[in-house]
Amino acid sequence: MAMRSKVNFKCPKCRADVEAEQWSAVNGEKNPQQKSKIMDGSLFTAKCSACGKVTRIGFPMIYHDTEKNYMIWLVYEESEIKHVVDYFKSSKTDPQKDENGESVDANCRQRVVLSPDQLREKIMIFDCDLDDKIIEIMKLHYAKQVQLTLKDGDEVAAVFFSNNNGDKKIEIFTKNGKAWSAPALMDIYNKIENQYGGRASYAEDRVFLIDDDWAAALVISLVG
Ligand SMILES: [Zn+2]
Repeated sequence: MAMRSKVNFKCPKCRADVEAEQWSAVNGEKNPQQKSKIMDGSLFTAKCSACGKVTRIGFPMIYHDTEKNYMIWLVYEESEIKHVVDYFKSSKTDPQKDENGESVDANCRQRVVLSPDQLREKIMIFDCDLDDKIIEIMKLHYAKQVQLTLKDGDEVAAVFFSNNNGDKKIEIFTKNGKAWSAPALMDIYNKIENQYGGRASYAEDRVFLIDDDWAAALVISLVG
């Protein structure tokens, strides 16, 4: 499979032809330029050379880091998750090759995400040598604190971990457009790891979609 392909579409503003690049696979070490475009979001946009309009483009992609040993598959529909999970399972049972023809290590962390923002977040978490399962539980904890302060029916809508040159944060966005960010304290991370780490890690080989629903289900199962 070609890692890079071209697509053409009409600019939604001026109808000029726009050519965009789509990547089906990016390797963090071999394609550092594409990695930085994933991190700033520009890999998933195309600019019209006639009028300058920037259009978001979504395409499925597999991101692989062989040094940190993780693989993240970006898809857009829940219905595509099963296909990815089947692939991940088979890639672990018989050592196979990934989309780039590289072999997949048995200890490779494999994840599926449903948006470019989630892909970027996973890369930040794994590149900091953190456990995304612990981070998801930590995000729930922060979201709960913010939810208590919200008024007029406002709700937490999205929570992300971020890391800018070692400045680790939890960023929270609400339905009514408010935004918070607070330092992602490693004291809290370590406490959560002590409390949930053993129970969370059992999922490593069976669960590939680690998100807020996963964390909520785990926390509820331990309380109930
Ligand atoms: Zn245009």
